[in-house]
Amino acid sequence: MSVEPKSLIVSCESPSYAVVHASAEIGIQAPKDRPWYRLTLPASKKSQGSPYLYGVAWPFLVGRVQAAPGMCRCGRPLPDLVQYEVTFDTGTQRLYYLGQCAHCQTVYWSDA
Ligand SMILES: [Zn+2]
Repeated sequence: MSVEPKSLIVSCESPSYAVVHASAEIGIQAPKDRPWYRLTLPASKKSQGSPYLYGVAWPFLVGRVQAAPGMCRCGRPLPDLVQYEVTFDTGTQRLYYLGQCAHCQTVYWSDA
């Protein structure tokens, strides 16, 4: 997925702890040790996919920062975000978009 620089709002916050923890199962490297940045993307920019994650929700936030539009905090292009459906212990299902910078391993995410 390519993302147009003008289409992004970036803030530093993570999804629920369960999502962070379970993201290791789909290839996110050391997710608990990496910064997570939330992206707000237009629906047309989100790619499709349907892997599943499981866990228990435990929300937390780590603050807000500014980032250059379309660029990772390390200066490389943002990674592609892939859609995942998360099923919580409560049975609630929620869509997330996750991607990790191959250079600095910062994780980017968006919810549906
Ligand atoms: Zn990076």
